This record gives sequence, C-alpha cells and structure tokens, in this order.
Amino acid sequence: MSCVPHFQQVRIENTNRCGYSCVMCPRDKHTRTQGVMPLDDFELVLNRIGAFEGEMHLHGFGEPLLDKTLPDKVALVQQKMPQALKVIFTTLGVPPKKDFFTALIRAGLDHIFVSCYGFTPETYKQVHGRDAFDLVKKNLELLSEIKKENNNLPNVEIIPSGDQMLLTLGTKHNPRVAFQTWAESLGMTFFKDRKLHNYGDGRQYNQPKEERLCPVIKEKRKAILQVTWDLNVIPCCYDYNASIPFGNLRIQTLEEIFSSMSYFRFVHAHINNQLEDYPICQNCEKDLY
Ligand code: SF4
Ligand code: SF4
Repeated sequence: MSCVPHFQQVRIENTNRCGYSCVMCPRDKHTRTQGVMPLDDFELVLNRIGAFEGEMHLHGFGEPLLDKTLPDKVALVQQKMPQALKVIFTTLGVPPKKDFFTALIRAGLDHIFVSCYGFTPETYKQVHGRDAFDLVKKNLELLSEIKKENNNLPNVEIIPSGDQMLLTLGTKHNPRVAFQTWAESLGMTFFKDRKLHNYGDGRQYNQPKEERLCPVIKEKRKAILQVTWDLNVIPCCYDYNASIPFGNLRIQTLEEIFSSMSYFRFVHAHINNQLEDYPICQNCEKDLY
C-alpha cells in the first residue's frame, strides 16, 4: 500500500510574488525567496503526482495572474489530467489584458475565485493596501464579456468579507449589497463570507486551539497536497513561510517525501501534542479551511 495520502485537492503555488499588501495576509513576514515556478518544474510536479481527477488550485501566497506562463500551465493540467477542475484565486488587481484572460479560458481554466474584501475605493485600499477597486471592477466587466464569448466560462465567484471581518479590519462602512447586485448583473456569483485566519503565527485574530489535533494528520487537510513555487511540499496553506518542508519534488518522489523522517517527525509531534519545533502550529486554529 502506498504511503502517499489520497489527494482530493492539489494546490500548486505558481508564484509568491504579489503587488498587494492586504492587512490580513502574513505575506509581509515572508523571508523565503520570491519567484515564479518555471514551466519545466511545473510539468515535473504534475508527473510526480500522476493521475489526478480532483481540484487543481494554481495559486499560493501570491497573485497567480502575475505569472505569464499561467495559460501554459493550465493547458498542461488539461492535457495530463483532463478530469481535474482547474481553479485560481486572484484579486484581479492586474492591468486588464483580454488576450491573457481568453488564453486562460481556452487553455481550460474552469473557475476563478475573486478575493474582494472592500466595496468602495476607500475600503478596498484600506483592506488590500492598493488603490485598485476600479481596476478590479474593470476586470470583472471584461470577464463578463469573455464569458459571453465562451459558453459562459469560466465560472467567476466573488469571495466577499463578512460583517465580522469588515469590523475586525476596521472598515465600518459596508456597501457590499450594492456591489453584490452589480457583480451578479454581470453573471458572477457570490461565495460565502470569508473568515479571518491566524495563518499559524502570521496573525493573531483567533484563539489557537491547543486541544485540537491538526487536520493535516487525519482530516480533510490530509487530502490536500500543498506545493510551493520552488517545489517544497508543506503541510498546509497556513505555512506562509514554508517553515515545515516535508521534502522537495525536484529531487524526491511523493513516496519518498511521505515516508521521510521530516514527515514522520511532524506526525509524531502532532499526535503527541509536542509542538515545540513547530511555532506556526502552536498558534493555529487547526480548522479545516
Ligand atoms: S492575500 Fe493574496 S493578494 Fe493579498 S497580499 Fe496576500 S497573496 Fe497578495
Ligand atoms: S497545526 Fe495548523 S499550521 Fe500546523 S500543520 Fe496543522 S493546520 Fe498547518
């Protein structure tokens, strides 16, 4: 029997570059190198994974649309894993390029989640650290046009901030309803409200759950493979600095990584609640998001 978990979701960080500085994101604490995963490395990762029919997320701690090779990467997934659902999370805060979006759709991108936590130019800038609200709206209009030309594809879903998140972030004014009505008139849907996360020791919004067992050990997160742009396999998306590398797909297979000492040490430490060597885990909510 293989030691590799059965993955239902794969998250490959195509880049950790980003022009935003969102208040809730621990990216400001990055000490790891920034870069874009080369296409050859991406193909190597897909080959290491082999047959896969679940959700393929092409994003991480960065803006996936900054990667010019993203359409080629989507096309590679389509070619090697035709049943996989190809998904990105983006702010859409990049200069609008219809050809680029069209190339992504034609390559087979199925779903775009748009993170949008402010609904006026002022609140948007306050939360996301960039004066890009009008740019995002322009891109939503462009995507609406592209959907009409491409059989209503891709699905575009906006992830809004909830009331609690807006208040925690200090943006009292909430014109979310007007924005939602406008976006829905373009054929977009709204996802459920986003919660704030600690991202391990990256932020301090919630009480850590010391008594809870990490879900990477036995629950939904165990079914998620998380790969950084430089091919490290890490336990979860809270590990913003890739501080717990189980191994690296450039030099190891998945079998080697999931039978390695670093993986066993991680599992043993969590089962016995001995987290001294894992600072990010000590401040974690250990939820299933
Ligand atoms: S939340 Fe996303 S868009 Fe905002 S700084 Fe982090 S990676 Fe960039
Ligand atoms: S305890 Fe939290 S940060 Fe640590 S591996 Fe588990 S989910 Fe990730």
